[in-house]
Amino acid sequence: MAEERRLRRAEWFTETEKGWKCTLCPRGCGFPGEGTVKGACRVRGVRDGIPYLPGYGECVSLSMDPMEKKPLYHFLPGEQILSTGPAGCNLTCDFCQNWAISQRDGVPTRFLEPEQLANAAISMGSCGVAFTYTEPTIWYEYIADTAPLIHAGGGVVVMVSNGEVNSRPLKEYLKFVDAWNVDLKAWSEDFYRKHCGGPMKTVLETLETIASSGGHLEITFLVIPGENDNPEEWMEMGKWIAGHCGENTVLHVSRYFPRYRLGKEPTPQDTLRKAYEVFRETLNFVYLGNVDSGGSDTVCPGCGSTCISRVGWLVDTTGLRNGRCAACGGDLNIVSR
Ligand code: SF4
Repeated sequence: MAEERRLRRAEWFTETEKGWKCTLCPRGCGFPGEGTVKGACRVRGVRDGIPYLPGYGECVSLSMDPMEKKPLYHFLPGEQILSTGPAGCNLTCDFCQNWAISQRDGVPTRFLEPEQLANAAISMGSCGVAFTYTEPTIWYEYIADTAPLIHAGGGVVVMVSNGEVNSRPLKEYLKFVDAWNVDLKAWSEDFYRKHCGGPMKTVLETLETIASSGGHLEITFLVIPGENDNPEEWMEMGKWIAGHCGENTVLHVSRYFPRYRLGKEPTPQDTLRKAYEVFRETLNFVYLGNVDSGGSDTVCPGCGSTCISRVGWLVDTTGLRNGRCAACGGDLNIVSR
């Protein structure tokens, strides 16, 4: 069974004159009609001329994380979630914070059948499974096989993604994903071209599609000094998010540290505080990540009460009632049990 699963035929491939084209993401990798070749993401490819997933079920890491670490602050706050991901990515960001497992060949993995992963979530007391750490959308077939088992066990499915997925597979994902955190790495196609190797346009389409589907969406923006720290661009980004996804969309503004091929100094914390002020002009829920203190509590935009306070991974939800402000009943765009 394990061998059959490992060789499961991949979806999202079309036949071309020269062989095959993967249609899952905007890179559109081409493959010959014979031989064994991996795509740019290292997770999809052809084997003996047939589309398959060399990375099917090959998990790079498996650990219980706070939901807040994804980061998701408005989805099941305070719960723990079993987290895993594939050994690859369809972007090549030169500041990748997880490059050791996303950008290299030969990363050690452990094969888990869909049933094993879903059962592990139940037996560990997890609220579900988060597909994260690298880029999970390239793992379509494995997640599509596993998600029904997670749901059958009463769990939720979370995706933490770069948003570089084509619209047809995205619409299939929307049928079985309960919550998303998607990166918006800059407000500039030039930035995406120079640093990431993929188009910003696709990410915007992904954000808009998830938001209009009614799925739970949070966005992460990593601020890098001198690269995406222009307040005018922040203002444009905030207006776009508010206009296309809604002013209650959660935005996590996170501090960069030097990793992989980008050796700039860490983002000054004052820059993050400035970004907070700018984004709060258009969005109701803005949080700061990787700062010493502040910017992590959920405050009701209606009455100003603190509904959730966070210190590190400690989460106090006493100001919350049925996902709404306990003081005034205001809508906080929070999914809670
Ligand atoms: S998902 Fe992988 S194989 Fe498919 S087009 Fe994107 S990078 Fe290429």
